[in-house]
Amino acid sequence: MDLADKISRQVKEIPRSGIRDFFELVQSKEGVISLGVGEPDFPTPWHIREAAIYSLEKGETSYTSNLGLLSLRRSISRYVGEHFGAEYDPANEVLVTVGVSEALDLAFRALLNPGEEVIFHEPCYVSYSPSIAMAYGNAVAAPTHARDDFALKASEVEGRITEKTRVLMLNFPTNPTGAIEPEAELEKLAALAVKHDLIVITDEIYSELRYDDPGRYVSIVSYPGMRERTVLLHGFSKAFAMTGFRLGYACAPPEITEAMMKIHQYSMLCAPMPSQMAALEALEHGAGPVEEMRTAYEQRRNLAVARLNRSGLPTFEPGGAFYVFPDIRGTGLSSREFAVKLLEEENVAVVPGDAFGPSGEGFVRCCYATDPDLLETAIRSIEAFVGRNGKGK
Ligand code: PLP
Repeated sequence: MDLADKISRQVKEIPRSGIRDFFELVQSKEGVISLGVGEPDFPTPWHIREAAIYSLEKGETSYTSNLGLLSLRRSISRYVGEHFGAEYDPANEVLVTVGVSEALDLAFRALLNPGEEVIFHEPCYVSYSPSIAMAYGNAVAAPTHARDDFALKASEVEGRITEKTRVLMLNFPTNPTGAIEPEAELEKLAALAVKHDLIVITDEIYSELRYDDPGRYVSIVSYPGMRERTVLLHGFSKAFAMTGFRLGYACAPPEITEAMMKIHQYSMLCAPMPSQMAALEALEHGAGPVEEMRTAYEQRRNLAVARLNRSGLPTFEPGGAFYVFPDIRGTGLSSREFAVKLLEEENVAVVPGDAFGPSGEGFVRCCYATDPDLLETAIRSIEAFVGRNGKGK
């Protein structure tokens, strides 16, 4: 029996993640310093872990409401209101999910009919395009460029709108570039969404990690006419260093929340209770640790940007997230050749830029949420590598 024949065509057609392929290579080597995985090197702050432990001690091991604990939804509603300037009713406009990953999947599945289009900016998070495909939608990439500091030009979106376009997908600060959208451009995107009656999904997972203007949150949801057509996704993985808790949420008008909840209740039922209790603690008392981690990342960003630029790899100074995206075209190597050769020669792992879509070719992503000593060693290795592999060498 050919089991490959038993797999659905739709799943077969989705390519494997470029990151996964590359990291199988990384795992086959010993002593590698990885700037690869987009994950904080800090453990979850202790008081947040304690809240999960205490919840287990109390025997809080049951299902919760499908939407999530009401206390957590109230806290999310307050947090989003304060930070993003949009009020959501915890009763029917907030859905607690298993990470932003689940929320993304629910949003695409709730909003798309087969063949409808989602425009997103690229290079981008690896899951967007496959998640759109799994919801039977068509992914339409709008490229961003180093010359624009990877901002999304509204004109790039406008030129791609057709009668099938349903959703505009945004993520600022952006994975993998760290870009923050200039407010003037965000305003134009909001106007486009209103003019063409689009729903906007905004993935705000890095919004606490801003270095140019810390504490400022600018989301498209706060622009006129946008709250009613926006699905705001956020979670705890990055700013609160809670990747393993698998917790996120979606805020949206009741009709959209209800549609997402319908899928969630049959596929996931609810997010894990101890993680929900930890998330509640994070929102209520986590601002201090988040700020400490943000400050640490900022120092590492400054170091990484200065040293990579000096080494001969032009590197845009990102305003947020915890990635730098150096331009490696001067080496004459492709992103993949660069990453494989760097791994073989220096035991340092970075992610080839084309893993984030074709417009990431010519770049690599380095995650600086890494132990500072290891980061220093990795950068020294990259400097030596570029010294040997610069143009014409
Ligand atoms: N969105 C972006 C832009 C990400 O970079 C990631 C993880 O890397 C996710 C969503 C997934 O987040 P979560 O851990 O909440 O599922």
